[in-house]
Amino acid sequence: MKKMRIVVALGGNALGKNLPEQYIAVKETAKAIVDLIEYGHEVIITHGNGPQVGMIDSAMSLFAKEDSVQGKTPLSMCVAMSQAYIGYDMQNALRREMRERAIARPVSTVLTQVRVDRQDEAFLSPSKPIGKFMTKEEADFAREKYGHIFIEDSGRGYRRVVPSPKPLEIIELSVIRSMVEDGDIVVCCGGGGIPVYAVSEHLKGVSAVIDKDYASALLAKELDADMFVILTAVEKVAINYKKENEQYLDTITVAQAKGYMEQGHFQKGSMYEKVDACAQFVSSKNGRVALITELSKAKDGLLGLTGTRIEG
Ligand code: ADP
Ligand code: MG
Repeated sequence: MKKMRIVVALGGNALGKNLPEQYIAVKETAKAIVDLIEYGHEVIITHGNGPQVGMIDSAMSLFAKEDSVQGKTPLSMCVAMSQAYIGYDMQNALRREMRERAIARPVSTVLTQVRVDRQDEAFLSPSKPIGKFMTKEEADFAREKYGHIFIEDSGRGYRRVVPSPKPLEIIELSVIRSMVEDGDIVVCCGGGGIPVYAVSEHLKGVSAVIDKDYASALLAKELDADMFVILTAVEKVAINYKKENEQYLDTITVAQAKGYMEQGHFQKGSMYEKVDACAQFVSSKNGRVALITELSKAKDGLLGLTGTRIEG
């Protein structure tokens, strides 16, 4: 197989719902990623944080209630915290897995800030699901009590949604690029990156959660990756999802992907952004390929045996 530069985006939902689950989940994830590294590919890892950033936000809100000196923790800070503890677990799991296979490569996590537009209309209509899945009653209660906004998420329950502005610029890009060129394994753009906007010469955090699929596609473009892989909870993308005539997709073109998006086959907040991000990456330069598959199928997906591939 040709040696490729691959950006691999891991789903926040595939990282477990709590610390013990995360420890186990990242071990499995590390195996899947080191399989790709073992083939000689250059791999850059990004990850989501939907469940985790919601958990941190809830914890910090409770803390603020107990200790009146503590103000509200902005979501940008919660994203930074999620990057740190997920990156910490991830880099150690990768290190361990590589050592076991006698691969000597440095691995580190880069706290990544991503610039957004403060005027992005996403601030007016929250769309990104975070935190745990709730029953309708729990969601109604939280809506009353905290003024949060909820949506029904792909038939799996109700989740709080927050603004999700488009990523415009990866602030730490040159550092990430240098590390990749040096042969390091880099975990970056966690949770879509810490959302910041420019105030004259400076950067200021903003309460939002950038979609990790869009941030990862931007990273893949900027690093001139050959392939963009999204590892999630489903083996393939479906049209007529969860309907009688559901059909799983193998290889589709960008034009087909756009057609299906327009016909409303992919739920916003979950699959829509993945397909859209892949289409953006693939159409940005000839020869670029994207793949969406389940975490445990990464290797088979790369060999073309499963997953949904999006090509030019
Ligand atoms: P991640 O944490 O990996 O970003 P998401 O939950 O955001 O995962 O998105 C993946 C989920 O999207 C799947 O597990 C599935 O429940 C849902 N989904 C919505 N529409 C589709 C579709 N058309 N085909 C496959 N999965 C879909
Ligand atoms: Mg997601």
